[in-house]
Amino acid sequence: MRVYSDLALARHVNVNAPVEAPDRLAAALEGAERARDAGAELKLQSPEPASRAALESVHEARYLDGLRTLSRSGGGYLNPDTAANEYSWEVAALASGVAVAAVESAFMENTASFALVRPPGHHAGANYAMGFCLLNHAAVAAARARALGARRVAVLDWDVHHGNGTQDVFYRRADVLYLSVHRSPFYPGTGSLREPGEGEGRGFTANVPLPARSGEDHYAAAFAGVLLPVLREYAPDLVIVSAGYDAHRADPLGGMDLGSGSFGRMAAAVSVLTRELGCAPPVLVLEGGYDLDALAESVEATILGLDGEAPRWEHHPENAPRPVRDARSALAPHWEGLR
Ligand SMILES: [Zn+2]
Repeated sequence: MRVYSDLALARHVNVNAPVEAPDRLAAALEGAERARDAGAELKLQSPEPASRAALESVHEARYLDGLRTLSRSGGGYLNPDTAANEYSWEVAALASGVAVAAVESAFMENTASFALVRPPGHHAGANYAMGFCLLNHAAVAAARARALGARRVAVLDWDVHHGNGTQDVFYRRADVLYLSVHRSPFYPGTGSLREPGEGEGRGFTANVPLPARSGEDHYAAAFAGVLLPVLREYAPDLVIVSAGYDAHRADPLGGMDLGSGSFGRMAAAVSVLTRELGCAPPVLVLEGGYDLDALAESVEATILGLDGEAPRWEHHPENAPRPVRDARSALAPHWEGLR
């Protein structure tokens, strides 16, 4: 297990969103250190910023130039909840580089890896910043996996918010499957069952919207009833987890009811599935999570969960919560395993 991060990632400050605080980085690293104290074998490494080519595999050149210019001129506002300071460009490019390094280590060294980064990335699209996100690190990482020879890459997003940016980037592509379990209705308003992908990508976006205050029973049902069967059928060469922790019950933004241990069980479910499929070990990329104690605890649980046993989560057609049954029906035309 490798943890990639860099203390320089604390230099970005978003004055429009004090909750996405530089302290989040230290909290996440604290979680990784606790996992090590609890017996996880960890190697912490600080990688290089993502190359221009890696960033351009997801983002438009003009958007990258504009973001760099804004940041280098001292910073400014990008939208109502997202601002840049003089370090934001370097920090965002470094965060994408951290996610790329995590993919490279999963692929070339066959080791699970966690990119502990900020700001988060999954709301950023090819040409827009949004929801605290400047560059889409998970998307850049997925594109890097494709460049390394992965035929199919899955991005599983368990952040409480729908990753509209990641969905957008891969919406018309079959080579990157985007799966998301998120609160709905909620920010950013996307991620409904009526968004299955388009063209070549039709069927390769799998959304499971859940109501406010959903707890582990709903998440377990979403995993057993939709996310795991779809992943199994897709048989990706690599699974990237957009690991947000704002569905934790202590989170000030999320309004859901997961505990820290829930994230460990979700990580175990993904990790066991990758072993079953014989694909690369999972790559995790930190997204949201705004309560510092919950973030540290949940990162610790996630890392320990990667080596744990799969939770006994089963799909019961009769008892599955309504939102999970609805998601199954919506996706069933595209996935045999859901019929
Ligand atoms: Zn979030």
